[in-house]
Amino acid sequence: MGFDTLLGNDQTKENLGLALKKGRISHFYLISGPEGSGKHTLARLLAAAILCTGADRPCMRCTACRKVLEGVHPDFITVDDPEKKTVPVDLIRQARADMYVMPNESEHKLYLFPRAQDMGIPGQNALLKVLEEPPSYGVFLLLTTNPDALLPTVRSRCTEIRMQALPRNVLLEALARQFPQAEPEDLQAAANRSGGFLGQAQALLAVGSQIPEETRLLADALCSRDSLKLTQVLVPMEKWKRDALADTLKLWQELLESALATACGSQAVSPLARALAASRESRDLYAMYETVKKAREYTLSNVSPAAVCGFLAWTLR
Ligand SMILES: [Zn+2]
Repeated sequence: MGFDTLLGNDQTKENLGLALKKGRISHFYLISGPEGSGKHTLARLLAAAILCTGADRPCMRCTACRKVLEGVHPDFITVDDPEKKTVPVDLIRQARADMYVMPNESEHKLYLFPRAQDMGIPGQNALLKVLEEPPSYGVFLLLTTNPDALLPTVRSRCTEIRMQALPRNVLLEALARQFPQAEPEDLQAAANRSGGFLGQAQALLAVGSQIPEETRLLADALCSRDSLKLTQVLVPMEKWKRDALADTLKLWQELLESALATACGSQAVSPLARALAASRESRDLYAMYETVKKAREYTLSNVSPAAVCGFLAWTLR
């Protein structure tokens, strides 16, 4: 099985496969790449490969592999608190102490740091102590969107793996499989705008493929400059719960952002963005984007949905 489920990144997959065959496992891996580039997929595969008890690691069939994939392996521990802006230093200290407790059921014990760029200097210094003298079974997987945010003393101790952009044909094939309903030109546009990273292309297409009714109606009202239609979309939303309103406004923000990018020369990733870009000036699109962004901020800071919808109706007219 090996690392096949990760698309592209052939050199990395080959190097890791060879190293594992020779039993060469690094104590510290730094996996870097932008959002949506496959860092988490690779980290999971690498963890499965290190803990795997089968052949052609990761075999994806043995108990250890299955536990890693299901996120329940006791020797594969994630160190983060997504609620906090910075990874709390106490969590890093706890992980450091825990690492000196023998593995539960494997020959290795792995710690995953999903956002190493947000560890802060005290956190990185806490980590540095274990980087200097790791127990023989310990492996740290640091993921980051920005390797430059790490202290040189931390970075220099890591085996660094950079996620690569996918070849265009590989990316397009994957997108066509995952978004069978999308138009070929939308797939092409998403591939172009993603910089070659699957996760980014998926996010762009998801905006286009799961469009709720209100968003279609909004785009229609904005394209036709019809304030009556706009009111018809917004009035029922006055009774919505705040969370639902904030989610929809996020979608509108993304749609307008996409339309603005299209108006400025990027290829559109959805028919709605294309229609908006064709019917409105980029100046208008930008003003509408700012309005929706502000409306979402109001919603998140506890302004009532009725007042937010009133603000939108007034400003977007
Ligand atoms: Zn296995």
